[in-house]
Amino acid sequence: MNRIQSLFGIRWPIVQAGMIWCSGWELASAVSNAGGLGVIGAGSMYPEVLRDQILKCQAATDRPFAVNVPLIYPAIEEHMQTIIERGVPIVFTSAGSPAKWTPLLQAKGIRVVHVVSSVKFALKAEAAGVVAIVAEGFEAGGHNGREETTTMCLVPAVADAVKIPVLAAGGIHDGRTTLAAFALGAEGVQIGSRFVATPEYFSHRAFKGRIVDAAEGETLLRLKDLTPVRLLDNPFSQQVAAAEEAGAGVDALRDLLGRGRAKKGMFEGDLTEGELEIGQVSGQIKFIQPAATIVEDLVAAYQGFTAGMEDPHFRW
Ligand code: NDP
Repeated sequence: MNRIQSLFGIRWPIVQAGMIWCSGWELASAVSNAGGLGVIGAGSMYPEVLRDQILKCQAATDRPFAVNVPLIYPAIEEHMQTIIERGVPIVFTSAGSPAKWTPLLQAKGIRVVHVVSSVKFALKAEAAGVVAIVAEGFEAGGHNGREETTTMCLVPAVADAVKIPVLAAGGIHDGRTTLAAFALGAEGVQIGSRFVATPEYFSHRAFKGRIVDAAEGETLLRLKDLTPVRLLDNPFSQQVAAAEEAGAGVDALRDLLGRGRAKKGMFEGDLTEGELEIGQVSGQIKFIQPAATIVEDLVAAYQGFTAGMEDPHFRW
């Protein structure tokens, strides 16, 4: 058992990323029941929705699960209050400084993990007292680092820089990529895109169908001057690219983005006008599969690769 397994109380060091408009209680409980760590993505949920999702998740699994809260979420106090009241054991934070919330949550017995895209922020998160770090490379979908550091470069750099355990994210979806992450120094993986193409969905079926159809090179990092985000190519993404090429400033890009684009694309299934946030690995996802099958296949492949390896770092 490695540090991630014991910290989270899970069988396999596989975490499902908490993604807006994709990961509700059905996906989170399915991943937790399969032995990984399911995560509810709270960034797209109003406070009463998150409360309901946590209750449903607790009814669907006895195993640990977590909630991901982007630190720029407007009603963050209410989300954190619900998490404390409902006894959620683990919180993943992202998109902001963990200095304020980490001590408050950990004083209540909640373990906090922070998502970063650079060594600089990994060190800040460690200093803030988080128990583990997700090092998320440029391949990942959704919000992304400005520096464009890839998983291959980021994970070993973060693993060398901090003492707490590191989970690798960005481009990981199967046994091979998990083995690579462990070779880079990770003690666990966080997987997002692969879990979007599951029946335990929250996102619209048209969005999932678009992921299964996605080809190599169809995602690009957009809105770098505003909030960098990896999007699937579609008319909206092309509109953003044209504006960026024409030299649009931050205000013009904000106007073009408007409000609720991610909801339109991922939740309502508007593949033309919506934002479709997904990782580069979408080009390799060809099937919609149950979350438990994804976990079982990954574990079987990983154990096949590592059978006979003596280094305890690789043994789960
Ligand atoms: P927008 O400002 O475009 O829209 C806000 C969306 O969030 C709306 O769809 C709204 O639903 C919903 N929402 C849920 N709770 C609230 C609330 N308390 N106040 C206002 N709106 C709320 O934001 P985005 O959709 O781009 O992002 C939403 C959140 O997700 C942000 O916190 C953002 O940081 C996070 N995010 C995280 C990403 C990641 O990769 N970690 C990627 C993208 C976003 P409704 O339309 O029903 O009002």
